[in-house]
Amino acid sequence: MLFATVKGEKVEAKPKTTGLCPLCERTVFSKCGEINVWHWAHHKDESCDSWYEPETQWHKNWKFAFGKDNCEIIIHKDGIRHIADIFTKGNVVIELQNSPIQRPTIRKREDFYGERMIWIINGSHFKKNFSVFKSGLEEDEEYYRLHNPLSSHYGKIDNSWKDEFNFSWSWCRKSWRDVQRDVFIDFGDEHLFWVKEGIGTSQGKGKKITKEKFMIKYGGDLNLLPTLINNSNEMSE
Ligand SMILES: [Zn+2]
Repeated sequence: MLFATVKGEKVEAKPKTTGLCPLCERTVFSKCGEINVWHWAHHKDESCDSWYEPETQWHKNWKFAFGKDNCEIIIHKDGIRHIADIFTKGNVVIELQNSPIQRPTIRKREDFYGERMIWIINGSHFKKNFSVFKSGLEEDEEYYRLHNPLSSHYGKIDNSWKDEFNFSWSWCRKSWRDVQRDVFIDFGDEHLFWVKEGIGTSQGKGKKITKEKFMIKYGGDLNLLPTLINNSNEMSE
């Protein structure tokens, strides 16, 4: 985790300090090395949250983009508590997933957080296996629209298909196949790829949306938008 409780405050890890885990209230120790992002860890690195994933620069950038008051938020449900990566001002849980994840874990997290939850997956690890392209049909449609602007069939102004792409994914991460919430893949550029069909399979469809739009929709800090772009997430692979 990036934040622990120190004297009642939510604070970042500083070298050689201790704090309290906001979830189990045991002591956590600052880990401030040169390789990993500075973070807090439990004794012997045993996290109390079974869904914990080691912190990376990628996690940090996204969490910070939503601000200290909206990241690492404890969610209570049926006597169980977990730390949501991001809990937006509009009460949407954003779960950040950097490493491969098992299908049952995906299901449990979705069941726990409910419908108001979305995923952002770090795609930088499988970027080379994932290609995004326009289908032939859409190119034809564009051709017709440009050349027959008054045609009754194609003349209707509807640009929504413009952002739609097909994808093919080699060595796809199959555990995502039955995901029930929206999935946005972050390849480190200015867009997120919002998968509409075929997540966890070798081909499907999706939309590119700019991170700027995403931040506006979910209440992120636009000043920190540059930290989410330019492959800044590759630093910690
Ligand atoms: Zn704990």
